Amino acid sequence: MYPKPLQNLIDLFAKFPGVGPRQATRLVFFLLKQQNGFASELQYGLAGLSQIRQCKLCFRTIDQNGSDETLCILCKDPKRDHNTVAVVEKESDMQSIENTHIFHGLYHVLDGVVSPLDPESPKRLHLRELHSRITKLLEHSHKAEIILATGSTTEGDTTALYIDRILTPLKTRFPDLTITRLGRGLSLGSELEYADEITLKSALTNRK
Ligand SMILES: [Zn+2]
Repeated sequence: MYPKPLQNLIDLFAKFPGVGPRQATRLVFFLLKQQNGFASELQYGLAGLSQIRQCKLCFRTIDQNGSDETLCILCKDPKRDHNTVAVVEKESDMQSIENTHIFHGLYHVLDGVVSPLDPESPKRLHLRELHSRITKLLEHSHKAEIILATGSTTEGDTTALYIDRILTPLKTRFPDLTITRLGRGLSLGSELEYADEITLKSALTNRK
């Protein structure tokens, strides 16, 4: 058993995805050995997390920094195409699409995937918000394209199907709603954030 402060930290680190108790211990001892203010820099970084909020439209993170801002810079940008919304699993996927520089619409971050084995999983995602957002968008502009930009994994496909099923009924009221899926090119089983730029560009261009 380690001294309590160390053990507490080890238990905390072990909660990170992919980090087991052994690796957590290694990290904590690494921290202990660091000098030159590394630990206080880390402390400062962690404290900064408290000013992070989510954009109330797309659910990406924003640095609120004392302001009462509720929308991110993309959602506020009049030069973006507000009638095209790419639905992504996580914020890093959004960043990968941004890096291609060929997409000028907005995003919707789900914060996870629909798991075929977990019937509760849809409730944890921003799906209800997606539905009401798209409904409002259609009531306003009568035209929208929703790009299902989830990964080509089993979960990614299940998620895309699920969203397609909840948004398709809107087509009876709004015939100019198009729902597309990223084209082939993304290799089977791949997550968006690991796709290279050229592959992602072609998947975006070849959406159907
Ligand atoms: Zn936003």
